[in-house]
Amino acid sequence: MKIKFYGTRGSIAVANKDAYKYGGNTTCLYIESASGEPIVIDAGTGIRSLGMHLLEAKKEKINVLFTHYHWDHIQGFMFFAPIFLKSKIISLYGAKRKMTIKKALSYQMTRPFFPAEVSVLPANISFYVLSDGMNIGGVQINTIANNHPDFTLGLKFTENGRSFCFLTDNELMAKDANTKYKDFVKFIKGSEFFIHDAQYTDDIYEKRLGWGHSTFNQVIKLAQDAGVKKVLFTHHDHGSTDSFIDNIVNALVEKHKDLSIEAAADGKAIEL
Ligand SMILES: [Zn+2]
Ligand SMILES: [Zn+2]
Repeated sequence: MKIKFYGTRGSIAVANKDAYKYGGNTTCLYIESASGEPIVIDAGTGIRSLGMHLLEAKKEKINVLFTHYHWDHIQGFMFFAPIFLKSKIISLYGAKRKMTIKKALSYQMTRPFFPAEVSVLPANISFYVLSDGMNIGGVQINTIANNHPDFTLGLKFTENGRSFCFLTDNELMAKDANTKYKDFVKFIKGSEFFIHDAQYTDDIYEKRLGWGHSTFNQVIKLAQDAGVKKVLFTHHDHGSTDSFIDNIVNALVEKHKDLSIEAAADGKAIEL
């Protein structure tokens, strides 16, 4: 699998000079299977530039998976260029909880909020339920229910026996959790690496209990408990500057020399 970040910011996009290194776009992750099949995760604002890349790469069949339907994970969809081309075959996958993906996107793309409705888009668009154990282009996808307001799916991707997990918008230590901490440990165990929401520091978290996000230290604990040596933080808070994130990551790297610790950044690519 080839993996590339197109958006790593949480809640709202930012365009400040001091957020240039990690990027200002909201969540969008790109996976390309060994056979070349495109799998897009979430349609945050980062999906705009991914759309341009997919046009250049002449990808005709595109899959888009949605972890959940909060604004920062769907707001780029209307600017995803392939949806405006007749030749493109686009499969959209979302959980059928509270609302279907079709309804969620239709709410967003309705007048007077946006002039083009989902039903008039030229691409050949189909809607599917994102379910545990499904396979797209040779990549197996497993899901776990994250702890987040409304709902969010955590995802594991496996191809040729190698896995990574993507858990954005997840409160690992939530009281009244849907999913217990030990089940997240089990879910990521055996993965080559995992990407996890680390929107807060421990201090800020105390004032944001129940908001559905985790801290840098909680994510490190998860890596240690699951024995996964490589971890990337994502869903960076809109108020976090590059130097703020750098200081936290540098201190953790110094403290945990047995782990590979990084903050995900727009444009960063990983091969698995
Ligand atoms: Zn989010
Ligand atoms: Zn969310």
